[in-house]
Amino acid sequence: NSGKSSYNRVLLKISGEALMGDQGYGLHPPTVARIASEVQSVHELGVEVCMVIGGGNIFRGLQGSAQGMERTTADYMGMLATVMNALAMQSALEALKIHTRVITAIRMDEVAEPYIRRRAVRHLEKKRVIIFAAGTGNPYFTTDTAATLRASEMSCEAIFKGTKVDGVYDMDPAKHPEAKRYDKVTYDEVLAKHLGVMDASAIALARDNGLPIIVFSLDEPGGFRGILAGEGTYTIVQ
Ligand code: UDP
Repeated sequence: NSGKSSYNRVLLKISGEALMGDQGYGLHPPTVARIASEVQSVHELGVEVCMVIGGGNIFRGLQGSAQGMERTTADYMGMLATVMNALAMQSALEALKIHTRVITAIRMDEVAEPYIRRRAVRHLEKKRVIIFAAGTGNPYFTTDTAATLRASEMSCEAIFKGTKVDGVYDMDPAKHPEAKRYDKVTYDEVLAKHLGVMDASAIALARDNGLPIIVFSLDEPGGFRGILAGEGTYTIVQ
């Protein structure tokens, strides 16, 4: 791996499920630690890193509402789930001696900082990793939209969406071995072909703000750093 990145500030988005390892639910600390070390290797390049972590490993609003819970209540539960994931990641990063701040979109001052844009920017300038938690703070959104919103507010150069596969395919590569990976794809193509990179509101927001989305495999050790240094396979949505 080379030692330089052409990116100065990025946002890493991972789903909550990325933290559950082989378990069907919740947090798997060794997996959290492994992802923290991927972040560490990028931080070592001098790149300013923001993170948004989903909550689907603990609770998803839509699933709750499908079982009769009121949608907004279920969504607030989902947002709270992302705070637990953020705290777990903060703890794993700090075990690696990386100063990390969790910033929540819903105030809970005893637990984490509230979101104040200028303060968040200051943390990045001081090379602290920041984890944006509680989504956008609003029901009916997802953490993909929160990631796009915060990346735009923080003037990140791109969103890095870490997934199980090394990019965006024309079909599900797990079901169709003949599926083809795109090197590049436009926002409009993602929307028209329902390519399932992120939900439509997140894609539209990224498009309107000219924010590239880089989809890559988080399962590949050193993959995140490699892509920042200009190596590896991925799909860029722009
Ligand atoms: N959520 C929300 N508003 C937001 C972000 C998240 O209501 O701005 C809720 C929503 O219920 C969602 C849950 O939090 O299902 C967990 O987030 P998400 O599904 O994006 O997590 P992921 O799939 O990335 O793990």
